[in-house]
Amino acid sequence: MCIPFFDSWLHNQNVQADLRSAIQSVIDSGQYILGPAVERFEKHFAAYLGVQHCIGVNSGTSALHLALLAGGVGLGDEVITTPLTWISTAAAISLVGARPVFADIDPVSYTMDVEKVERAITRRTKALLPVHLYGQPADLDGCQRLAEQHGLLLIEDAAQAHGAWYGNRRAGTIGQMGCFSFYPSKNLGALGEGGAVVTDNDSLARRLRRLRNHGQDTHHVHLEPGFNARMEALQGAVLSAKLPYLEGWNTKRAVLAALYHELLVNTLGLTLPAKPLSDRSHVWHLFVIQVIKRDELQSALANHGVETRVHYPTPLHLQPAFSSLGYKEGDFPIAEGVTQHCLSLPLYPELTEADIRCIVSSLTNTLPTTTTVTAVQGSGMASAGCKRPFAHGEVGLSTRVTT
Ligand SMILES: *Cc1c(COP(=O)(O)O)cnc(C)c1O
Repeated sequence: MCIPFFDSWLHNQNVQADLRSAIQSVIDSGQYILGPAVERFEKHFAAYLGVQHCIGVNSGTSALHLALLAGGVGLGDEVITTPLTWISTAAAISLVGARPVFADIDPVSYTMDVEKVERAITRRTKALLPVHLYGQPADLDGCQRLAEQHGLLLIEDAAQAHGAWYGNRRAGTIGQMGCFSFYPSKNLGALGEGGAVVTDNDSLARRLRRLRNHGQDTHHVHLEPGFNARMEALQGAVLSAKLPYLEGWNTKRAVLAALYHELLVNTLGLTLPAKPLSDRSHVWHLFVIQVIKRDELQSALANHGVETRVHYPTPLHLQPAFSSLGYKEGDFPIAEGVTQHCLSLPLYPELTEADIRCIVSSLTNTLPTTTTVTAVQGSGMASAGCKRPFAHGEVGLSTRVTT
């Protein structure tokens, strides 16, 4: 058995007719940057999320960077975020001249612990930047309460949570701005790089459109120094073609996650991700378990042909990029513990229930040795080589839902 962690080829193969006509329409349009294809996607994604404005940009990292700039975050400001996230979240804070201030996570949800956020607030705090890690919305009520009490901006990093619900609103639409990534392996992925900022605020939207396009509102009038952070027409067209499938893909992810839970609930030696609280939904961007001997389990699974990943091996306060902030090991023990024991199992809509059963049996066969003895396992992938479990041309897994 050979199961890759994610299979971009298969994922896009299943919607290739839609992708081909989307790409053809861009070729025929002659407009390759911004333009009608990007405007169409912005309109569709805003309608899907139930928000006024969507500003398409060239990556999730740009989305975060421009959102902080548009929010007026800059030199001398502090922005509170989580140490357990992808580098972009905190790098964007540094890139606008502000200081990332970390608050440890809640051990059950892995998202920012609002009590610890509260303790980290100072006179310099300008914004809160919660991350909806692994696909589950952070405690936005708690963040919103603190933001109102202290006059702070609330920006959501929703790069892993396309379509997740928080109460009766979608993740990304609760703070003043929400930031999305369309990196190919995200729940909604482009054929390359892409990102977006969403907001209900007209003047923030105007500023974001200006910042992504060299500070221009009108051609050749540069109101401020801006960036080239424009979304390409090709990605806009591809994302519009894939958006109708997102709900079905998220449902399939939830079904497979539930199967993992059902099959692994009584397995000793591992901690499963908690099911989401009743007021929010989890879109299972990642299915992350925790085990004592993580590295041994990872190589043993590789020997069985199951590819896994670690999200993330180092908490951001211990990254060299942030050494000047003066944090040290032990500052955020819960996040540090997760980085030592977390392991992301394959979970994406193209996997079958049989694949999940295979992964689970590899895992349960392996677990006794990896948790009780310091087994030395071979490293790397199975000696047989990890090849695609699917044949070229196999299609039909995806169901289109018109929204
Ligand atoms: C993917 C991701 C980003 C960055 O998005 P890119 O499109 O890769 O720049 C930011 N934050 C989180 C939490 C992410 O998972």
